[in-house]
Amino acid sequence: MHELGIVFYVIKEAEKVCKENHLTHVSKLTLEVGEVSSIVPSYFRDCWKWAVERSEYMKGCVLDLVVLKAITYCQDCKKTYSTVEHGKKCPYCGSERTYLATGNETLIKSIEAS
Ligand SMILES: [Zn+2]
Repeated sequence: MHELGIVFYVIKEAEKVCKENHLTHVSKLTLEVGEVSSIVPSYFRDCWKWAVERSEYMKGCVLDLVVLKAITYCQDCKKTYSTVEHGKKCPYCGSERTYLATGNETLIKSIEAS
């Protein structure tokens, strides 16, 4: 139930923005998720549909899910490469002294509210 936890978190954040700005309804929310953030988009959408109907602020809110490419940085040759394609091992120099630079985030990019 990893996705549902994130859905609830996102809804709570969006509700907070509404309250702070005296808005009453969110019609669209754009969420950026990293490629390796372990979110399953189809399952996430199902959780979303179910959860927004239970929120006064979020009823019928459209979810725009943007998947960000995961990028790994190599500390030995200072190059970056696609994490999903090559994993932990640098395709340029073979080093495993690498770390995930982007691709693990969950970020509310924008909301449309009134
Ligand atoms: Zn390298």
